[in-house]
Amino acid sequence: MGVDNQGARRLLVTGGAGFIGGALVRHLIRETPHAVLNVDALTYAGNRDSLAEVEGHERYRFSHTDIREARSMRRLLAEFRPDAVLHLAAESHVDRSIDAPADFVTTNVVGTFTLLEEATAYWRSLPEAERRRFRFLHISTDEVFGSLGATGAFSETTPYDPSSPYAASKAAADHFVRAWHRTYGLPVLVTNCSNNYGPYQFPEKLIPLMILKALAEEPLPVYGRGENVRDWLYVEDHVRALLTVLAAGTPGETYAIGGRGERTNLDVVRQVCRLLDEVRPRRGGTSYESLISFVPDRPGHDLRYAIDPAKIERELGWKASVPFEVGLRWTVQWYLDNRDWCERVLSGAYRLERLGLGREGSA
Ligand code: NAD
Repeated sequence: MGVDNQGARRLLVTGGAGFIGGALVRHLIRETPHAVLNVDALTYAGNRDSLAEVEGHERYRFSHTDIREARSMRRLLAEFRPDAVLHLAAESHVDRSIDAPADFVTTNVVGTFTLLEEATAYWRSLPEAERRRFRFLHISTDEVFGSLGATGAFSETTPYDPSSPYAASKAAADHFVRAWHRTYGLPVLVTNCSNNYGPYQFPEKLIPLMILKALAEEPLPVYGRGENVRDWLYVEDHVRALLTVLAAGTPGETYAIGGRGERTNLDVVRQVCRLLDEVRPRRGGTSYESLISFVPDRPGHDLRYAIDPAKIERELGWKASVPFEVGLRWTVQWYLDNRDWCERVLSGAYRLERLGLGREGSA
């Protein structure tokens, strides 16, 4: 039995100041009795503004710590005594991994290894009943599987074939996590999820980038011909899937998470434009679609991702609940209503510029 809502548990979340981690932490404090220790290094992608609603809550604590620091992680585990570790901290942007892969290796691979080492030592020190209950939930991506052709879908048994430095680093981390289960018996759970979208996503990712560029009347850069297909999942659905896996997943097992929401990038951008036309029409009445501009493709750009979520649906009873049209409408409205958040997170170095052309041709 893992960590369900039957009793208050202690959850150590890494990367809880990021997009998915933030949604998870807010959900845990709002909807469950669990106590949360959020461990985050606050890179450009981590923002405590996203956690304003939980700051000060008696069941929430934040530690500004890098998962690569073994001694700090050891101390936090010993002090907080978690019933589970939910590991989301990562460098997560494919384009950045093309320009500067080093942090992807040190955080995603070495950081995960460090956390596994410390979590294993802590887990071994627990009394029997707590040791049996403990879980290490590793959150990963469908990008580890490489690219699909026009048909088929990724599942838990798809061989790994990563294309980008980001995908390769997550693939390596996934292998380490599974090896710690097979070799040391650490009760791990691995999830591989498709593309997430929703509020609080850093505006370098497709959907928020397009919303903000459209509002600024700037060209909307679509890679290649916009034909790449991604399987979109609303972030709250992902959070519910993770808590389902934590409560009922079998240690050592992998769960593929997806919303059966395949769309081409061009379809997604057009839909963002149409929603904006409706809720924030341009002066002069032309559609935001006229801002779409095709730009050279990302090197190594995978053509298509799609997840077959049959296992988690069948075995654990989870199912995506937010249709893409509904979630996208909420997301567009959220960015319209939260321009100050966008301005604050963009006040660092990143200014919506093109990344990921490779180290020679970086913009
Ligand atoms: P994000 O980039 O928004 O957030 C990552 C967080 O990790 C940030 O708060 C950052 O400060 C923190 N972090 C980075 N390096 C750290 C370090 N060394 N020590 C401590 N904290 C560190 O990412 P996200 O989109 O929320 O993704 C979260 C996880 O989910 C990642 O592991 C990612 O691979 C995975 N994932 C993401 C998606 C997606 O569509 N966004 C899909 C599937 C899986």
